[in-house]
Amino acid sequence: MFRLVLLGPPAAGKGTLAGKLSLKYQIPHISTGELFRNKIKEGTPLGKKAKEYMDKGELVPDQLVIEMVEERLSAEDCQKGFLLDGYPRTVYQAEQLDRYLAEKGVAIDKTIDMSVDQDVTLARMLGRRVCKTCGAIYHVTNMPPKEEGVCDVCGGPLYQRVDDNEETVKVRFRIYREETNPLVDYYKKTGTLVQIDGNGEWQRAYTAALAILGA
Ligand code: ADP
Ligand code: ZN
Repeated sequence: MFRLVLLGPPAAGKGTLAGKLSLKYQIPHISTGELFRNKIKEGTPLGKKAKEYMDKGELVPDQLVIEMVEERLSAEDCQKGFLLDGYPRTVYQAEQLDRYLAEKGVAIDKTIDMSVDQDVTLARMLGRRVCKTCGAIYHVTNMPPKEEGVCDVCGGPLYQRVDDNEETVKVRFRIYREETNPLVDYYKKTGTLVQIDGNGEWQRAYTAALAILGA
């Protein structure tokens, strides 16, 4: 059983790695970015609010994210473990997550920090395509679908995220450095941090993660 957090800069490959680990260990992959994109698609009030921040590359306010995550974590399928991708992103979110889990008598087992060079993440971000229907992630050259513009998994249409453009990306990197990177120290202190190199192909990061988690 695993309660995992994935850390790393935007487009480090967290979503891809989380997808593979989720299949391998049969635990839900919880991406807060994806949860928000679903709310936006459904046109809910939370989705509308979140979109204002996401389109600019800014963080959605803590309170909105925390509430959404706690609701998700209380679902039956999370009781045997989960993989958080894109959460926590601020020290406050991390503290709230620890508090929430402690109340349930559990804790995060491992935090996997993916280090990736900025030029690599930039190229990944600009070539990234996402399935509108199921959220599966592709890359136009590194990880193309079998048929251009069509999801291998579900046949849904692929699109480019509004925030995957050069201007917004700069904001996202800055916010990552200022708000999210301090979590590396936070999780060092809790003793759960492990670091892997995310620069290569996804298989390498996946192999490194399996070695840490015990395949
Ligand atoms: P990436 O990992 O490529 O930055 P995500 O899909 O994880 O993309 O997140 C997209 C956007 O969703 C973020 O830029 C932010 O606006 C919002 N978001 C996702 N997770 C959080 C979070 N934990 N706290 C605040 N905002 C979040
Ligand atoms: Zn799909």
